[in-house]
Amino acid sequence: MNIAIIGGGFTGLTAAYTLSKQGHAVTIFEKEPYLGGLAYGFTRPDWQWHIEAAYHHLFTNDRDIISLIHELGISDSLIIKRPVTSTLWQDAMYQLDSPKHLLLFPGLSFTDKIRTAALLGFFKLFPVWRLLERTTAERILISVGGRRAWSVVWEPLLYGKFSTYAPKVSASWFWARIVKRTPSLCYIRGGFHTAVSALEQAIITQRGVIHTATPVDAMKRTGHDKYAVRWGKNQQTFNAVLLTVPTPFAANIAPMIPASYIRPLMRIPHVSAQTLIVETDRPILKNVYWLNVTDRSFPFLAAVAHTNFMDPKYYGGHHLTYFGNYLPDGHPLLSMNKSQVLKTFLPHIKRLAPNARYTIRHTYLFTGPFAQPVHEVRYSENIPPIATPLPNLFMANMDYVVPWDRGTNYAVELGARAAACILKETT
Ligand SMILES: Cc1cc2nc3c(=O)[nH]c(=O)nc-3n(C[C@H](O)[C@H](O)[C@H](O)COP(=O)(O)OP(=O)(O)OC[C@H]3O[C@@H](n4cnc5c(N)ncnc54)[C@H](O)[C@@H]3O)c2cc1C
Repeated sequence: MNIAIIGGGFTGLTAAYTLSKQGHAVTIFEKEPYLGGLAYGFTRPDWQWHIEAAYHHLFTNDRDIISLIHELGISDSLIIKRPVTSTLWQDAMYQLDSPKHLLLFPGLSFTDKIRTAALLGFFKLFPVWRLLERTTAERILISVGGRRAWSVVWEPLLYGKFSTYAPKVSASWFWARIVKRTPSLCYIRGGFHTAVSALEQAIITQRGVIHTATPVDAMKRTGHDKYAVRWGKNQQTFNAVLLTVPTPFAANIAPMIPASYIRPLMRIPHVSAQTLIVETDRPILKNVYWLNVTDRSFPFLAAVAHTNFMDPKYYGGHHLTYFGNYLPDGHPLLSMNKSQVLKTFLPHIKRLAPNARYTIRHTYLFTGPFAQPVHEVRYSENIPPIATPLPNLFMANMDYVVPWDRGTNYAVELGARAAACILKETT
């Protein structure tokens, strides 16, 4: 079978890998000049490793991607560490990643701490996520964890991430975040690029074709179960097509998808991700890997010191710190260029670490549209099957990941599931 896969992120790559392994002819179309999608990484001539445009790590229970890494023969690239996660409170950083550190945190009373522990325990043990999908995270966080913990810890994070959508975020999304989190984290030697490259090589070895810098403009149904895929002035006909691009892009490319299928997906709101990476000669943050910035007077939501997780020696001895945000459409930061974002962030970066002495060597700005679907109450009811009502036309993107928060692990699981669905359903 001759199958087109539109989108070369982890979902499209895994689907292509799985199908080509079984002898099917696959062609990937990727708009960007590189593969990897939201997990794409870049490097510099003086670095040994790539780094992701947006901060990435794995949890130790991310079984699907970890199994794929073993299968691709790059097991020795997995690194497991326990880096420090902290929270900024009243201009000071407090480690807040274990029961002991919760007890030491001065922002909550003893009763608030007991309630917060009860809240986390409740989520860890609650077995039926579908019940939690019927109510909001805000309601459960306040009723179980209490108002003080809500305003000090949870509200700034939830509203910082989802802005006006925050009150509608379902408790099942929050449940998934807590259940999945592991104290130790994994990284991939060389960056996630190592896994992307290994997938690319395996697909090519299995006779798959990969077109990068090739945005698909449109598709046309050319028979009962055949589709012509058009890019620029070129066109090619396929027996089956899998769309892994964000839903609004898929709706543009394939307007023949029935409204009854795509309309519920189109109702899902998304926020964009923006990261500013600051490369310095000395560290900005000491010891901390992940800093949740709960003070909303800061113009960013998280500071992620990648080189407090991985050794700076892989990046020319320099230190790399991300300053990240999730932003709704129309947010002023989305229309700023790199120097404007840096100028906006600099006074606050200094405020985070007033005594740190460093020189900025380079900065990098990235924006990912549709980077995070908002899991509102009853989210899963919007998610259709991977097989669309049209024969041999399939869709699988981040929106299809439920109840878990999207991530490369779920993109791998989804890509494999999409491949199985294509093999089962194609005529
Ligand atoms: C800030 C941030 C932090 C994250 N942190 C983590 C983390 O720590 N760990 C983790 O596992 N995951 C993390 N993720 C999530 C992870 O990156 C995604 O879940 C995963 O990469 C999604 O893969 P995908 O293939 O489904 O989608 P995408 O990566 O979005 O792939 C879709 C692809 O389609 C392409 N495309 C779009 N339009 C067209 C077109 N017309 N023609 C051809 N191609 C097209 C795009 O260029 C893209 O490559 C993070 C994401 C963000 C934004």
